[in-house]
Formats: sequence, structure tokens, C-alpha cells
Amino acid sequence: THFGFRDVPTGDKQKLVGQVFSSVASKYDLMNDLMSLGVHRVWKRYFVATAQVKRGDRVLDLAGGTGDIALLLRDRVLRQAQDARDQGCIVLGDINGAMLRVGRDRMTDMGKVGGFEYVQMNAEKLPFPDASFDLVTIAFGLRNVTDKDAALREMQRVLKVGGQARVLEFSQVKADWFKPIYDFHSFNVLPKLGKLFAGDADSYQYLAESIRKHPPQEELKSMMQAAGFARCDYKNLSGGIVAIHTGYKV
Ligand code: SAM
Repeated sequence: THFGFRDVPTGDKQKLVGQVFSSVASKYDLMNDLMSLGVHRVWKRYFVATAQVKRGDRVLDLAGGTGDIALLLRDRVLRQAQDARDQGCIVLGDINGAMLRVGRDRMTDMGKVGGFEYVQMNAEKLPFPDASFDLVTIAFGLRNVTDKDAALREMQRVLKVGGQARVLEFSQVKADWFKPIYDFHSFNVLPKLGKLFAGDADSYQYLAESIRKHPPQEELKSMMQAAGFARCDYKNLSGGIVAIHTGYKV
């Protein structure tokens, strides 16, 4: 913790999730590429390119991890240096100090220094007043959160009126013929890749299980409605391997 991220007090599932991500932090980016054959980059690009956001906005990227989404958002949010007033800002929030550190080092190495804030936080209880952000995103994060309803309510609370929430997450594959192939990948290939490249099969076994347990498209949409979002909708990518859910604060 030499960069000063405190350990946030946690329950059992949170402790497990904490161990998983502390264990994979340094290998996290490599593993994403291996597991998805690089396709996660396309999903993330699409997720950010279709976001309701403009220059000067304040954006919160929850469970932001090593900063893939924050980095893509930066080009859409930050103004040029000449109008430094009302610059726009991306808050990268994650419960895990190790993931945040990898993210911050990565940004710094790329020379992307201004416009980011790094805050260690639990998505279930956000340390911001109501109506703080124009856009709130969470990519491949919600399924790791213990109390997803609480996280969705918090996302709704910190949004400004008219603001958008976006969730990018693994979902339910639509085509029946693809399901056995996908399950084989998740429960056989994935843990082996984890063992081979990250020396850690268990963490990747956990990831596969968390994907299977995550609420499918319609259920997550209902959860967003219950959390107070309006005009909730979703779009499947890659045949439902992942889905983008959106909702607005009105
Ligand atoms: N958004 C990044 C991306 O797409 O590459 C990182 C996704 S990573 C699979 C999931 C992240 O969620 C981890 O960095 C983990 O620490 C974080 N996380 C898990 N539970 C959380 C919680 N309750 N609050 C905030 N972040 C959490």
C-alpha cells in the first residue's frame, strides 16, 4: 500500500473478490487479451463510443480496474489545453488498491496524467454527493459486486438529471449451438490459461462461475428499473457474450 490506498472494510464475497484481483492485477491486461482473443478491446471501444458524454463532463468509471474504460473516455471528455476552465474529469473508482495502482502507473507511463482522479471505493456506497456526474460507467465490474441492487441505486443517486448509466457485462449467449463451446471455453480453457500465464487457476475458475451466476439481460434490465433508472434498455454484443445496459436519471 505504498501509494496510500487504504484497504476498504469488506465482507466474505468482497474478501474473495479482493484476493482474486490482487492476485491477478499485474497480469490482468495480458489475461484479458488471451481469454477473449483481444475482442474485449472491441467491446470496450464500442461501449465508450456509444456513451452519452461530451467534452467538459464529469464521469465516474466504477470498478475501473487498470483503466481501459477511463483511457478511452479521456479523448471524449477532456478539452484542449486552451480552455482549461471546466476541463472535464474522469474519476476512476475501484475497491482494489492493487488494480488502481497498476492503472495509475499505466496512465502515467503513457503520459496521460491530467484529467484523472483515482479513488478507492466500494460501488455499493459511493463517497459522492447526489447529482455529481454526467455519466457513470461500470465495465466487467457489476458481477463482482455483492449487493448489485445497492450499486445500481448508488449509480442512480450520483448521476445528474439527464445523465446516463452504462453497464458493460458478460451476459447470456443467445444461440443454442454456441452454448457448449462457450461453457467449454469458460470452465476448461480459461482456468488452464489462468494457470499457465498467471500461475493462478482458482481466480479464473471464480471468474467463469461469476459470469454464469450474473443476471441475464432482461433480469438486469428489471434491476435497473427497480433502482430508479428510466428508459432502460440493452444491446447484445457478440451474440450475447456481453451486453450493454443503459438507463437514465430523469
Ligand atoms: N473495468 C475494468 C475493465 O473493464 O478492464 C476492470 C474490470 S475487472 C474484471 C473488475 C474490477 O471490479 C476489479 O478491479 C475489482 O477490484 C473491482 N471491484 C470488485 N468489487 C467491487 C466493488 N464492490 N466496488 C468497486 N470495485 C469493485
